[in-house]
Amino acid sequence: MNGIWRRALILLALSTLLCLVAWPIFGATAAVGLFAAVMLVMVILHLRNISRLLCWLRDPKPDAVPQAFGIWDVVFAMFYRMLRHQRQSETQLVATLNDFRLAGAAMPDGMVILDQADRIEWCNPKAQQHFGLDLKLDAGQQITYLVRHPQFAEKLHSRNYSEPLTLRQSRAADLVLSVQIVPYGDRQNLVMSRDITELERVETMRRDFVANLSHEMRTPLTVLGGFLETISDANTADNDLLRRSLPLMMNQTHRMQRLVEDLLTLSRLETSGNPLHDERVDVPRLVRSLYQDALALSAGRHRIALDIESEGWLSGSEHELRSAFSNMLSNAIRYTPEGGEVEIAWRRRGDQAVFSVRDSGIGVPPQHIPRLTERFYRVDRSRSRETGGTGLGLAIVKHVLNRHEGWLEITSEPGRGSTFAAVFPEPRIIAADVAESLVQTA
Ligand code: ADP
Repeated sequence: MNGIWRRALILLALSTLLCLVAWPIFGATAAVGLFAAVMLVMVILHLRNISRLLCWLRDPKPDAVPQAFGIWDVVFAMFYRMLRHQRQSETQLVATLNDFRLAGAAMPDGMVILDQADRIEWCNPKAQQHFGLDLKLDAGQQITYLVRHPQFAEKLHSRNYSEPLTLRQSRAADLVLSVQIVPYGDRQNLVMSRDITELERVETMRRDFVANLSHEMRTPLTVLGGFLETISDANTADNDLLRRSLPLMMNQTHRMQRLVEDLLTLSRLETSGNPLHDERVDVPRLVRSLYQDALALSAGRHRIALDIESEGWLSGSEHELRSAFSNMLSNAIRYTPEGGEVEIAWRRRGDQAVFSVRDSGIGVPPQHIPRLTERFYRVDRSRSRETGGTGLGLAIVKHVLNRHEGWLEITSEPGRGSTFAAVFPEPRIIAADVAESLVQTA
């Protein structure tokens, strides 16, 4: 017997006892009347508590549980406990859901939860960005209506999810995505997306690089191979043949050497574990020595002017700066026909320092300018080859300047000439007076 029944029986027994006591004193009618009155009061009290319970159930707040006594006290206490337990579970559920949302938002990959009919239930911000979704508008929509790629729909319906899918040009941007579908729960799916745009770019660069390099190496090797074959086929050593072929073979060998040297320089510059070792570079001295090299390279075919306006130095690598500046200079001489002019200058421009090479050469059509620093990019392939170019010079210049927080500025007009300027920011510059004191102390 539980407590509620016990209390009810005790109340009934007390009322009956009261009646039995009243019977001999007030008579039977009064005793029955008293019993009926007690019962009526009890019924009214129960009805009142039921009404309060109904009222409270319409908006059950734990802090507004009605006060009562007797059986109803127990009932209300039980309701209160149930409600509190339910509220605690709800709070826990909300906290878990929030944690899940925060974890989803922090994920570097996109995640879309689909229901059994492939409708979007939820997705994280990265997935919204990858697929151009808006969760508020798109929840409940078929994912294949929004991610409109035939391969994606095919994959989703094939139920063969072992391999990830590569999607190009998604709805949101020019992204390349790797999309993996993961089945879970009761025939539901998770769609995971990863941005592999950069990876794809690097892979394309690698492929192009290998193709370009193979192409560059093939010509000299074919020439060398051809000559060697002819010589070995000749029964006797033909001096005349040797005299004609040896310079050409040497020429091709030098070309391959230059190519390999430039490749090694580029690879050293690109190696992340090769930080720049800063030293104080006496740029005016460096530029004067490069001017002498330019005179030798031109061999009197050009008028070469030198303009050192600034005595400022740079903080950086002398070896790398020499390599960058000399590439710019040799280009000016190689792409300027005989009789043309070349001007080499080292100047201050506001708080920047500029090494520039201006020439009156063939110039570059504007559409080519943004691509000149790409490896193996040439405007005129045969002219570059004829003049001993490797197609890597400006790529080296760009890397060296990057490592010195500098940049390359190119202005050019076809048929009239070009200016290539290496610009260095303020923090790299050692002012002329400081440089002078360094010379004195040296
Ligand atoms: P290359 O070894 O072919 O000269 P670079 O990387 O040094 O390779 O230059 C890339 C291309 O930029 C050259 O092939 C050429 O078409 C163009 N170029 C560079 N410097 C000049 C210049 N001073 N005048 C005209 N064109 C130039």
